[in-house]
Amino acid sequence: MRNEYDVVITGSGPSGSAAAKGLVNEGLHVLVLEKKRLPRYKICSGIIFKKSQNITEKYFGVIPKKAYVTPEYLKGVRFWSENENYKDYPFNKDGIGAPNVWRSEYDYWLVKNSGAEIKDCCALIDFNESNDYLLLKIHDILNDKIIDIKCKYLISAEGGKSLIRSKLDPGFEKGLKWFTAYQNYFEGSSNLNPNYYHGFLEPQYGEVYAWFSVKDGLLVFGTAAAKGKKIKPYLLKYTELLEKKFDLKCGKMVRKSGCIGNNMSPEGRFYLGKNNILLVGEAAGFLNAFGEGISCALTSGLFAAEAISKSIKSDSNTLELYAELTKRERKQTTASWKLGARLAGRDLMPI
Ligand SMILES: Cc1cc2nc3c(=O)[nH]c(=O)nc-3n(C[C@H](O)[C@H](O)[C@H](O)COP(=O)(O)OP(=O)(O)OC[C@H]3O[C@@H](n4cnc5c(N)ncnc54)[C@H](O)[C@@H]3O)c2cc1C
Repeated sequence: MRNEYDVVITGSGPSGSAAAKGLVNEGLHVLVLEKKRLPRYKICSGIIFKKSQNITEKYFGVIPKKAYVTPEYLKGVRFWSENENYKDYPFNKDGIGAPNVWRSEYDYWLVKNSGAEIKDCCALIDFNESNDYLLLKIHDILNDKIIDIKCKYLISAEGGKSLIRSKLDPGFEKGLKWFTAYQNYFEGSSNLNPNYYHGFLEPQYGEVYAWFSVKDGLLVFGTAAAKGKKIKPYLLKYTELLEKKFDLKCGKMVRKSGCIGNNMSPEGRFYLGKNNILLVGEAAGFLNAFGEGISCALTSGLFAAEAISKSIKSDSNTLELYAELTKRERKQTTASWKLGARLAGRDLMPI
C-alpha cells in the first residue's frame, strides 16, 4: 500500500467497483478499502436486472459462471395477493430472465476487474480535510494497526450506513428514518416456482414487502419493518403463510442475516458529497423500489469517476459535475418508488 493516492474508495460493492473501474481507466492511482474479508457476504436476492447486466458487460465483461447459482436465471417477479392469485412481471423481454447470482462472487469479480489496488479487512475510521488533500485514518483489522493515507479525492461507497456521510453532515443523518431487513437461508422444500422471485405485498407480512427465492437449492426468504418495531411477528406470520399455502418445509438453517436501510431514495433525499468527497450507491441514497440497487450503484459509481476525471482535466467543480451527471438517475430512482407504490396499492416505505 502506498501512502498517497489520487482517489480512495471506501467499500467494494458495485458502486465502489464501478467508480474504481472508471478512475483506473483514466490512469489515476486508486485504492479500494473494504472492511470485511473478501469475498464478503452481502445480504441480497442477487438478481442482476437488465440495466445492471448491460453496464456490467460494457465495463467489466461477461459475468463469470462461478457467480451464478441454480436456477441461473429468474424469469420475473411473481407478486402474490391475499387470495392466492398472482401476477407475473417478466424481468426481460427476451424470455431468458435475469441472472441469479451470489453477491459475494459477483462483487468480488467486479472489484478485482476494476484494476484498482484493493485492501480488504481495512476500515476507514476517520478523515480530515486539509487545503489540497484529505488525510484518512484506516484500521488495518488483521494487524490491529492504524494507517494514515493521503488522497486528493475520497469516495464513499459504504452502502446505506455511511460513516463519511454521518461525519460530513450530522444534521442530515439525524433526519433519516431507518428500516431493518431480515433474510434467512434454509435447506428444505416448497412448491413456489423456483424460476421466479416471489413477492408478498400484504402489510401483515412486512412493512415494505416479503420475498422468497431459491439459490443453489436453499430457500431464501425475508421481510422488512421500520427500525425499532418488532420484525419477528411479521417473519412468523410470513413463514406460517409459506407453510400453509406453499408447503414450505424448512430443514437446517444455513444462514441468518440482517441489515438496515433508510428512506433517502423514496424521499428523494440524496446526499452527493462535499468538496472533493463524493458519495455513490446506497451511501448517496441510490436504491430503487422493491430494493433493486445494483443498477444505480453501478451508474452512480461511473458518474463519480467521470466527474472526478473531468474536474481534474478542466479544473472545474467536482460536486457540481457529479450533481449534473446524476440528475436523471436520481429522478428515475425516486420515480421508481412512486411506480412501486402504484403497483402495490400502498406506500412501500411507510417508516
Ligand atoms: C434483502 C435485500 C435484497 C436485495 N436484492 C437485490 C437484488 O436482487 N438486486 C439488486 O439490484 N439489488 C438488491 N438489493 C440492493 C443492493 O444489495 C444494494 O443496493 C447494493 O448492494 C448497493 O451497492 P453499494 O455498492 O452502494 O453498497 P454495498 O454493496 O452495500 O457495499 C458497501 C461496502 O462498503 C463496505 N464498507 C462500509 N463501510 C466501510 C468502511 N468504513 N470502511 C471500509 N469498508 C466499508 C461494506 O463492508 C460493503 O462491502 C437488495 C438489498 C437487500 C437488503
